[in-house]
Amino acid sequence: MSTQLTPTVVGDLRSSFQGGIVTPKDPSYDEARKIWNGDIDRRPALILQCASVADVQAAIAFARQNGLRIAVKGGGHSLPGHSVADGAVMIDLRRLNKVDIDPTTKRATVQGGAVWSEVDGPAQALGLAVTGGHITHTGVAGLTLGGGIGHLMRKFGLTVDRLLSVQLVTADGAVLRASASDNPELFWAVRGGGGNFGIVTQFEFQLAPLGPTILGGLAFWLPDQGPELFRRYREFCKTCPDEVTTLLVYLHAPPFDFVPKDVQHKPGFALVVVGTDIGIAEQAVKAIRSFSKPAFDIIGPMPYLAVQGMFDPALPPSTKTYFKAHYIGELSDGYIRAVTREAAKMPPGMSQIFVVQMGGAVARVAEDATAVGGRASAFQTLCIGIWDDAADREKSVTWVRGLWDSLAPFSHGAYVNLSDTQDESQLKVTYGAEKYARLQKLKCKYDPENVFSLNQNILPAK
Ligand code: FAD
Repeated sequence: MSTQLTPTVVGDLRSSFQGGIVTPKDPSYDEARKIWNGDIDRRPALILQCASVADVQAAIAFARQNGLRIAVKGGGHSLPGHSVADGAVMIDLRRLNKVDIDPTTKRATVQGGAVWSEVDGPAQALGLAVTGGHITHTGVAGLTLGGGIGHLMRKFGLTVDRLLSVQLVTADGAVLRASASDNPELFWAVRGGGGNFGIVTQFEFQLAPLGPTILGGLAFWLPDQGPELFRRYREFCKTCPDEVTTLLVYLHAPPFDFVPKDVQHKPGFALVVVGTDIGIAEQAVKAIRSFSKPAFDIIGPMPYLAVQGMFDPALPPSTKTYFKAHYIGELSDGYIRAVTREAAKMPPGMSQIFVVQMGGAVARVAEDATAVGGRASAFQTLCIGIWDDAADREKSVTWVRGLWDSLAPFSHGAYVNLSDTQDESQLKVTYGAEKYARLQKLKCKYDPENVFSLNQNILPAK
């Protein structure tokens, strides 16, 4: 039952709440309700900007007492906009962004509202790193809880593979620690089960030595080279060492300084290379880099922090996007024909197709060791429609759906963090029926009333 959020009801909360409380009447409301995806325009009833674990407990209790849905915002990068909802309480963790790194144990403790740049910078200052996302302003929380893919994953595993523990507040307000020894079943579930089980206020990661200089950058070929590049890429991936993680991206070359003027805005395929060991990586990519002359090639030694920030300018906050994804078993001839055919239909602008190379350390962790679904997939395809002008929205969305439909025969589920909202039947494919049933039981134990429902939602069941 929903009650009216009167000034008195909100005022009562104010007396004990340490963080910010933003109502629709406040001048900061429109800024506070924004998330990364500029296509999402939703109006929560109240925004609670938590400054402590006690605030998180109070925020959950407040929403429940007033019969309001809860949307949890870490870094605000949910593509379908799970972190904001009309009429809900948005529990915003962004103020909880402290990061501490112990150089002796090489462990990082990271609060639930931090973004990756706030981890990467201090970690690199000590010569350390953990697999983060491809973009530095993405939230640590959402990315980690869904699994976490990134430039370092074939060497260091998914982000969850380096997670040692979490502290989280459950639907009933309890503060729990989950790790291999404390609440191990809950620890299993949060490593891939998303925000279904509670609000994580602290993560603990095991970092690894890296850099500061690694191999990074990209080489770019015009579309007529696409099919041959794909076939070479397929062979390259079969023997690729763990020290190298790559992406094959179809895009219009951006008007950035490193792109020759006559190539800017032209469509083509970019091979993005990240190598944790410069010598091994240079050797590994030698043949594919030179199979035919690229339009430009900027692969070379560069600081890890520069590699991490490489895509930031292409995907700034407020980007308007529609996104769908597939896990892919292999780059079959049929897949290559479909993807290159649909690429040719991509609208002008910043839309993109990402083929993400998985494998390496990711695939060596057993499928049931964590809740993450699909880690054994060799690739993912990300179908990314981006537009500026609202008039172009329909064109981009239609193109994404057409691309996604064409690739569906080659796919098996989709990574929960990089797809649109999956229904129960899709989640069963992504996680596998057995794992989904285990997640449902744990959901029933920790959140029987589905208080945390704005996510890739696992329905509670005994
Ligand atoms: P939010 O929108 O804040 O939250 C997303 C979900 O996580 C919501 O369901 C929310 O309820 C839940 N959540 C957030 N914080 C908490 C918390 N503290 N406790 C419990 N639940 C919480 N993914 C990758 O794996 N690798 C990438 O390289 C990558 N790149 C991306 C680049 C961009 C530009 C974008 C927009 C997304 C990218 N993603 C990537 C996807 C990303 O991992 C997900 O969108 C993720 O959910 C973002 O986390 P967030 O905290 O920023 O999101």
